Amino acid sequence: MPRLLIISNRLPVSITEENGELKLTPSAGGLATGLNSLNTENEVRWIGWPGITTSKKEKQQIITEKLEELKMTPVFIPKDKFDGFYNGFSNSTLWPLFHYFQQYSDFYEHTWRDYQWVNYLFAEQLFKVAKEDDIFWVQDYHLMLVPQLIRQQYPLASIGFFLHIPFPTFELMRTMPRRRELLNGVLGADLIGFHTHDYVRHFISAVRRILGHEHHLGRIRLQDRVVEVDSFPMGINYEKFANAVNLPETKVELERYERETGNFKIILSIDRLDYSKGLTQRVRAFNLFLKKYPQYRGKVVMIMIVVPSRDTIKHYNQLKEELDKRVGSLNSKYGDITWTPVRYYYRSISFPRLIAWYKMAPVALVTPFRDGMNLVSKEYVATKDDGKGVLILSEMAGASKELISALQVNPNNLHHIADSIYRALEMDEEEQIERNRAMQKVIERNNVNRWATTFLTNLKEVRSKSLNILGNHFNTEKETKLVKAYKKSKSRLILLDYDGTLVNFRSNPNSARPTKTVFNIIDNLSKNELNRVVLISGRDKEILEKWFGEYPIDIIAEHGAWHRKNGNDWSQIKKLNADWKKTISPIFQQFVDRTPGSFIEEKNYSLAWHFRKTDPGLAEIRKPEFLEQLSHVITGKSLQIMEGNKVLEVKNDQINKGKAAQKWLKEKDWQFVLAIGDDYTDEDTFKVLPPEAYSLKVGFSETAARYNINSVEQVLSLLAKLT
Ligand code: UDP
Repeated sequence: MPRLLIISNRLPVSITEENGELKLTPSAGGLATGLNSLNTENEVRWIGWPGITTSKKEKQQIITEKLEELKMTPVFIPKDKFDGFYNGFSNSTLWPLFHYFQQYSDFYEHTWRDYQWVNYLFAEQLFKVAKEDDIFWVQDYHLMLVPQLIRQQYPLASIGFFLHIPFPTFELMRTMPRRRELLNGVLGADLIGFHTHDYVRHFISAVRRILGHEHHLGRIRLQDRVVEVDSFPMGINYEKFANAVNLPETKVELERYERETGNFKIILSIDRLDYSKGLTQRVRAFNLFLKKYPQYRGKVVMIMIVVPSRDTIKHYNQLKEELDKRVGSLNSKYGDITWTPVRYYYRSISFPRLIAWYKMAPVALVTPFRDGMNLVSKEYVATKDDGKGVLILSEMAGASKELISALQVNPNNLHHIADSIYRALEMDEEEQIERNRAMQKVIERNNVNRWATTFLTNLKEVRSKSLNILGNHFNTEKETKLVKAYKKSKSRLILLDYDGTLVNFRSNPNSARPTKTVFNIIDNLSKNELNRVVLISGRDKEILEKWFGEYPIDIIAEHGAWHRKNGNDWSQIKKLNADWKKTISPIFQQFVDRTPGSFIEEKNYSLAWHFRKTDPGLAEIRKPEFLEQLSHVITGKSLQIMEGNKVLEVKNDQINKGKAAQKWLKEKDWQFVLAIGDDYTDEDTFKVLPPEAYSLKVGFSETAARYNINSVEQVLSLLAKLT
């Protein structure tokens, strides 16, 4: 039975030192409770930082032993790396950028190095306890490089990654100096989860635009794997919050608060100290509310609980100062001896107190500028056993996608917030109950257990899809067999595509010249008398002649329109007509003019429109438009349209690589046939091969070839072995 290894920055325990003795208290955070209540047969083990930086080996040993009882493995982050990793790159670069506070996001090479270092440390510690058949689940923005590190160590492992904060739009992601490393790091996973579909969209778009990997319905195809990206909105432990209202400890708190707050109506605000939470904006909105609706002065109180967080970071410190000032100024403006409009507490509160505040507040004001999910809003609704209370929720919180019955506000629109407070206070009970019951249904169903279970079930499915692909994988064992068959045979036909097979995919038909290695391979293979080497390409004959004319090989150019056999002159396989190009090339030109980054490649019997360098979003619009126009003009002209990897090609329909290859296949009863190609045009070749032939497709898409081979490099290494 594989184990589930959860790798997160913090372990779900707090360590305290009392009178020289170390104490471990399990934390009640959402992730920890969710995963602890997981209905899984897999043994669960956590790997993470125990919350204490100590370099004393003895202390580390005691902590390790204590944690082992809870099936946890500590990662001791050294003091000199911690600041750069945690306060630096994680919370002063990634956090602000991912929350759209670009102006707060700084980038320093040394904090990036610490981040990398700590990510490596996590992987190293992990490998001490892990096995390849474990299930790995990496959590959050602190550890974005870890999935890739696991993948390098265990190529077949099942790896998940979940980001608990927003993923920003590509326009922000592209400004990040280490964007490629971060994206590649995360892509080591099989399944990448986000709270909302918007974050999924942004991630996929960044991967496509920055790394050039295409996707289909959220499935990114890498060379050797499929990576699935999807949204899994995280929930809370619903029962725990719903039942907590009736706990005796909660009741004690409730009575006390009711006595102390008297007849004031409470507007509740609870957050960590963070600029993303819109705290000062909230005080301004409350200020505006008191100005616009003076009838409520002396009748409402805003209870503002701010939980201390990251206060060693400059922007948090500044925020605290600004918040103190704003609250002070509002209270001095409106308050009097009997009424303090904002009661402001900078501390964390106990669970029973939290529940008591949730329960007794008729209004909760949750107005972050950005929030990955926001659990406070869900917890508030869960405690409303009588259904009474109104949630005002920012549409920028991930939770807004599920809590559609909340009063949703744009956190930048102060009037809208102020008016919503008024509306909430005036809302009749029937409407309140209706709204809360609808939200409770959603929160109860999508609880944290369901979140974790759904993620892990999906992870299993994606892995098995990848393993199917890998089943076709041209591995060392298959390579050895092929080389053996080659050596045993006395007559061999070797059909080789050029672009994407012998050289990496061309971005421009004038580039991607053959490398020295390619020339050496062609030279060696063609010198062997038992071999017949045929280069079978879509390129025009002039360029192929220029590059390979001096070798004793056969060449098929333009997908079969031309061929050169036994070193003779070029000849045409069929009598072809190219007059159609005159009518069709103006359309090609028109699309090139309208689509920056695209270009035309003209061959004797075909026209190709390449859009590899075009903005993918624009290409997505232009391609169907172009296809539609072309399909009208080619009717009745014996032409066909071929869709390739970022290319559309129109050519005579009498030619394809398969028809061309048949000429060579029929020539004699070959003892060994090998064909290698990488795109749609090579599929025609694969289809006409005898069943015992070896056919290899570069990359991992669907194919008629027998095997999928990783890369051009692997093709070259194979061919070098055929001596
Ligand atoms: N919370 C807490 N101590 C407090 C007040 C709140 O632990 O004194 C909890 C609260 O119950 C919630 C979490 O902190 O589960 C805040 O999560 P949220 O998603 O709202 O914001 P985050 O802090 O993760 O940005």
